[in-house]
Amino acid sequence: MRTKIVAGNWKMNQSLDEGLKLASEVINIAEAELPDDVKLILAPPYIHLASIIHLLNPNINVAVAAQNCNEHERGAYTGEISSSMLASMKVSHVILGHSERRAYYNESNELLTEKLNAAFSAGLTPIFCCGEPLEIREAGTHFNYVKNQLTESLSGISSDNYKNLIVAYEPIWAIGTGKTASSEQAQEMHATIRKHLTSLFGEAAENTSILYGGSCKPGNAKELFAGDDVDGGLIGGASLNARDFVDIALSF
Ligand code: PEP
Repeated sequence: MRTKIVAGNWKMNQSLDEGLKLASEVINIAEAELPDDVKLILAPPYIHLASIIHLLNPNINVAVAAQNCNEHERGAYTGEISSSMLASMKVSHVILGHSERRAYYNESNELLTEKLNAAFSAGLTPIFCCGEPLEIREAGTHFNYVKNQLTESLSGISSDNYKNLIVAYEPIWAIGTGKTASSEQAQEMHATIRKHLTSLFGEAAENTSILYGGSCKPGNAKELFAGDDVDGGLIGGASLNARDFVDIALSF
């Protein structure tokens, strides 16, 4: 049985006051309306994590993620945050390999293996992002491109750790562009990802939640989530509005 998940990546948005207001609104609406079998995850900027964690209620299925972590446990890495620091604050999840981090901070598939293993060691659940740029989609090599991302980053993680992995497929051409993959395009890539995960990790892949990301909104979430292998969403822009974010989670 796979967990249905809707995660909101706030990126570098929201002052502390705005972030607290947004998180409180999400938690209040979730308390009243969220079905028991759907989990929400909020990924605010690092500096808001501690304050937002204080708003969480164990009876409401809302968790908190960081948007990144460093691959080292401690040391002289100015400006960086380790997975064990996040775990010590009761952060439960971490987004790794977002296309913006791959593009702007040169995160390679190999580095992401190190970050994944650092996250697992600290007891965090990674949300591992993969997805192709437009030129790869247009060249028709998108399935191999994404499979290669998975092979290169995930071959170095243990089967035991794999059970705690969440995967997010985010076609880069659909992120923040208003262009969404069609439900058929999302489902065929999610099915390809699950098949590939099965080749790497066996039957455990049946239980892996695979989220879709890329201009997902209340108006298109239902269609996207209808795919058999689409287990939820990783939401950027629409996660900055509490009503829209929870409405996406009510679209299963
Ligand atoms: C994202 O950046 O992960 C994302 C899916 O953004 P948006 O929903 O704004 O396209």
